[in-house]
Amino acid sequence: MSPAFPVPVRPVIQQPPMVEEVLDDAERETLKARIKTLMKQQDAVLVAHYYTSADLQDLAEETGGCVSDSLEMARFGHAHPAKTLIVAGVKFMGETAKILNPEKRVIMPDLGAECSLDLACPADEFTAFCDAHPDRVSVVYANTSAAVKARADWVVTSGIAAKIVKYLHQQGHKLLWAPDRHLGDYVQRITGADMLLWQGSCVVHEAFKAEALKKLRTEHPDAAVLVHPESPEAVIALADVVGSTTQLIEAVRTLPNPEFIVATDNGIFHKMHAAAPGKILLEAPTAGEGATCTSCAHCPWMAMNGLRKLVAVLENGGNEIHIEESIRARARLSIQKMLDFAAAEKAGHIQLGD
Ligand code: SF4
Repeated sequence: MSPAFPVPVRPVIQQPPMVEEVLDDAERETLKARIKTLMKQQDAVLVAHYYTSADLQDLAEETGGCVSDSLEMARFGHAHPAKTLIVAGVKFMGETAKILNPEKRVIMPDLGAECSLDLACPADEFTAFCDAHPDRVSVVYANTSAAVKARADWVVTSGIAAKIVKYLHQQGHKLLWAPDRHLGDYVQRITGADMLLWQGSCVVHEAFKAEALKKLRTEHPDAAVLVHPESPEAVIALADVVGSTTQLIEAVRTLPNPEFIVATDNGIFHKMHAAAPGKILLEAPTAGEGATCTSCAHCPWMAMNGLRKLVAVLENGGNEIHIEESIRARARLSIQKMLDFAAAEKAGHIQLGD
């Protein structure tokens, strides 16, 4: 007899309006100089996600910080001696940094910077889902709250999700996956694992349109199509490379194609241009048949980060991430499993086979 808890319905998430910080050169330089002084005084390092503004990415690199994906941001912060971590990104990234660095002060430019995947998966509903399926191992994507990570058996990033699911499948486990239905569906297709999927989605990636992408590819026959697996199946089916943000940047750097059509947040173009100057980058279309996009290849929550807000936080305090210790410690265990798996797989201690 199957459990009474139904597979979740698709949650409706309201996006905030897109408000991007616009600065002239003089204000930009004044703000950056002030931030650098304050960072020194407060022994702080800045870690920024690929989807944040070019100003924040440049500032992170100019001050010895890093620009990366969410897990590498947390890892970098852990290895860096600074007592304060400034996380420019969205809230679950600040939480992940705090989970791995409980002794450090973790602050963010705007604590209201959320993520549609995180919002779509409240901890109490996820707990009920897990409780209804005690025979399944729960695997959650990094884009979740600390409380959801604490309830999960495993946390995965997009770069390692398929390997971990394949490993668990080969061990004979049935799985429960949250929150991104597209990434879960993609992983299920390539691993053949038995997975029950939560129905969340990313507002940016869900908006990419397959028919318009086919047309654009026809117009640019030398272009390679790069797709993040949070995108719909029909878009993934058109990809030359499917991968995490870091893997897509690496593809631009290493593939011989002169042009790339990129289906992920366009904030990543700043790093791609730096990694492969001279290559042409085109946004995958978000308009076309059935278009519903209001964010148009850029995350409205990522756009909440900016230099003005960062100055205000450093001058006035606040916007610090706090996590109850019992939740933090359990979330750490689920993340640690992924880190241990990655290390073991890299060392050749785990063989996944075909
Ligand atoms: S781009 Fe999508 S997955 Fe990333 S933070 Fe924004 S809503 Fe979340």
